[in-house]
Amino acid sequence: MRESTTGGWSREQILGTLEAMQAHDLPAHGGRTLAYVYDSGLAEADAVGLEALAMFAASNGLDPTAFPSLLLMENDLVAWAGRLLDAPAGFVGSATSGGTESLLLTVLAARESRPDIDAPSMVLPTTAHAAFHKAAHYFGVRPVLVDVDPVTFRADPEAMARAIDDTTVLVVASAPSYAHGVVDPVPQIAAAAAARGVRCHVDACVGGWVLPFLDDAPPWTFAVDGVTSISVDLHKYAYTPKGVSLLLHRDPALRRPQYFASANWPGYTMLNSTVQSTKSGGPLAAAWAVVHHIGDDGYRRLVRQAREATLALADAVTEIPALSVVVAPDATLLTLATDDTCDVFTIADEMLARGWFVQPQMTYRSMPATLHVTLSAATAPSVPEFVVALREAVAQAQAAGPVAVPPELAGAVVALDPETLDDAAFDGLLQAAGLAGVDGDLAIPERMAAVNALLDAAPPRVREALLLGVLDRLSRPA
Ligand SMILES: *Cc1c(COP(=O)(O)O)cnc(C)c1O
Repeated sequence: MRESTTGGWSREQILGTLEAMQAHDLPAHGGRTLAYVYDSGLAEADAVGLEALAMFAASNGLDPTAFPSLLLMENDLVAWAGRLLDAPAGFVGSATSGGTESLLLTVLAARESRPDIDAPSMVLPTTAHAAFHKAAHYFGVRPVLVDVDPVTFRADPEAMARAIDDTTVLVVASAPSYAHGVVDPVPQIAAAAAARGVRCHVDACVGGWVLPFLDDAPPWTFAVDGVTSISVDLHKYAYTPKGVSLLLHRDPALRRPQYFASANWPGYTMLNSTVQSTKSGGPLAAAWAVVHHIGDDGYRRLVRQAREATLALADAVTEIPALSVVVAPDATLLTLATDDTCDVFTIADEMLARGWFVQPQMTYRSMPATLHVTLSAATAPSVPEFVVALREAVAQAQAAGPVAVPPELAGAVVALDPETLDDAAFDGLLQAAGLAGVDGDLAIPERMAAVNALLDAAPPRVREALLLGVLDRLSRPA
């Protein structure tokens, strides 16, 4: 093996080791990972994106006058999105690192726009993305949760209107929601917000590059009166490398409170449009490259493939008696539930054993545990293969029967007080849950159904505490 000139590892050693590590990851390409990743199946689009990513990896979006190319690309992508989202003349937008950052900034800007309100709140449907809860936590904006319709899983606009009060700085709708893949009634929600002079954000992080290319999407864009901002992630259905979302505002005054400046130190005056200060130009350049390479016609084709795959899968599921489609999908996300002959967690394990990743979603309020399936264009040709695997997985799960959580363990978990969960108690829980290896260290089992079923029995606060405990144990220096 060739020595490196630095005294460190050679290029070959490095790449070989990286490949060996990556072999344990879910595959990002090939269309068999049905959450987390989005695959256009277009090799050349991927290649041009990676070249652009490398070209701009060291460029710094900290100062747009120092790297004007980044500003040009950002403004160009924002203009492109504005066209898709029916943005009116005078709209503006910013590129962020992802959906969560776009939503953090949405909530921050809403709070900052109302300095007159001491204890600000925001009205969220219960299906709103967890990133809003993160924003609530970071920025001290109280989330007011409003139950969605129990049959359609769409936000209830009358109930949301009633939840708006003098402390409300933001009202939220999803297009579509991540967990159930349906578009909220945006016109009614936006009208209720506007009537109270409150901002209305449409979270189109996952659907913003899909719905514009469908002929039958419900109304959700800036064409709807009262919508003040929209987020759309390019690293989802624009099929760009990870690290880019766009946040569009109807006018510059709405965006202004998102900005931050500090001249209060002896260095450069720090001017930030987003959360990050130094930010790589790589993801932005990659997004610019991929969007221009695929183009409107390309996206229309990719959306048609993903949408047809979604509908074909939904249709095939009706032939599997133990499974049901929770709600007819508005876009390209499908949510499946089981009857009581089996459980979603075992099915997810069985699918993984067959080379398919589907994402289990836990019971929440009156909503049942489900399987989440994000369909990319690249999955379209293998839907029949997926259905074969799904039939087998369901048959296996039925043969095994639903996971039975030992009652004493379930009882212990329900009774847990997350505030007082110390290290010793957590170790005991790991042991009881089958998550402790021979040495007592954390050991994530190949099959997760038993653990997931236990977590499913736990209230959300306990779930959070247990999983943070696991994350904490995972994140230790080698
Ligand atoms: C993915 C997603 C987000 C969060 O985006 P990240 O890029 O994971 O930070 C927010 N809202 C919805 C509806 C999403 O699907």
